[in-house]
Amino acid sequence: MSPDLHPGRVPDAPDAARSARAFGALYGGLPDGVWAAPGRVNVIGEHTDYNDGFALPMALPQTTRVAARRRDDGVLRLHSAREGDRITEIRVADLAPGTVSGWARYPAGTVWALAEAGHPVGGADLHIDSTVPTGAGLSSSAALECAVAVAYDDLYGLALPRPELARIAQRAENAFAGVPCGIMDQMASLCCAEGAALHLDSRTLEHRQVPFDLAAHGLVLLVIDTRVQHDLGDGAYAALRAGCERAAGLLGLPALRDLPADRLGEALAALPAELAPLVRHVVTEDARVAEAAARLAAGDTPALGPLLTAGHASLRDDYRVSCPETDLAVDTAVGAGALGARMTGGGFGGSVIALVPAALAPSVTGAVTAAFARAGHHPPAVLTAVPSRGAGRVG
Ligand code: ADP
Ligand code: MG
Repeated sequence: MSPDLHPGRVPDAPDAARSARAFGALYGGLPDGVWAAPGRVNVIGEHTDYNDGFALPMALPQTTRVAARRRDDGVLRLHSAREGDRITEIRVADLAPGTVSGWARYPAGTVWALAEAGHPVGGADLHIDSTVPTGAGLSSSAALECAVAVAYDDLYGLALPRPELARIAQRAENAFAGVPCGIMDQMASLCCAEGAALHLDSRTLEHRQVPFDLAAHGLVLLVIDTRVQHDLGDGAYAALRAGCERAAGLLGLPALRDLPADRLGEALAALPAELAPLVRHVVTEDARVAEAAARLAAGDTPALGPLLTAGHASLRDDYRVSCPETDLAVDTAVGAGALGARMTGGGFGGSVIALVPAALAPSVTGAVTAAFARAGHHPPAVLTAVPSRGAGRVG
């Protein structure tokens, strides 16, 4: 059986023209421009961002596009091609957490967060279209927020630095949409570059591009969407965050990022049994990010493989955010010849990445699909992740 494939991405220019046409059909006339922001996969560095730690995400070629036209009457109109015909309309001055429900919380929250931060923003007509799969752990929510953020940045001449836009988008998701995410997704969507992974310091938002050359080594990075999202995800995420904060407090540290690896043993001995594995994951994961970035910078892309698999074991055994489907995808991919694999994203479902020799990609995909069928799981959806550029104007 062949696996389902996510819709691929077509080049920006036709995409942007299509967005502009859809905008015209909906609102009449032309948009002032079209902006796009990508989804992301995190190569390594999971559950580290809210511990002020490090991550190594890359942008996907799949993007969310916003065709936008400024309005000077203070009215915000929102429409998504994914959500039927309905247009959500609200005055920017009336935006407050709780005033907008459903998907429109993400774009409306971004405008609210800009206004809240004191930036002189007004209304706009927005038409939204996307090739980022939703709810697959590829951060369609950040893509949506960041596309709106860069559109508004241009429409209102704000010229804000990217890290500041990322904080705005994160605030939209935390305080307006009610999702307690860290900063990594928004930084990835806004700051990634083509052919590179982004080494991110989640405390300072300092970031640098690390060359991520797959083709030169005959490798591909598969993203295997398990298509499951276990409900316990939301509550568990908040509980894990709280556990990490409690552990840092007990250790007298501002955040777990401040625990050096050579003090890990003594810290683990001092912590309650339920907190020690969380701390072990965060500290060893930060070390894996440093190692992965060093290997990539040295051009040794295959060396990433064992780090991915070690990261998965840590998420499965210490952080305990994997699930039968992600474990099966990782084990099967590695058994079928992947150099390494791990769950990516928050966990309890979502996607797995696998670093695979290009010639083995079909057989790894086939092996995972067959294993899912044997286990009675839904067929996974597989895409090839190509390190792509971050958000910007496309039309
Ligand atoms: P992920 O970010 O991993 O895809 P989330 O649950 O964080 O999953 O975000 C998915 C939500 O974001 C959707 O349920 C929807 O509310 C919103 N969303 C994302 N992309 C779009 C889009 N193109 N149109 C409308 N809503 C979207
Ligand atoms: Mg999300």
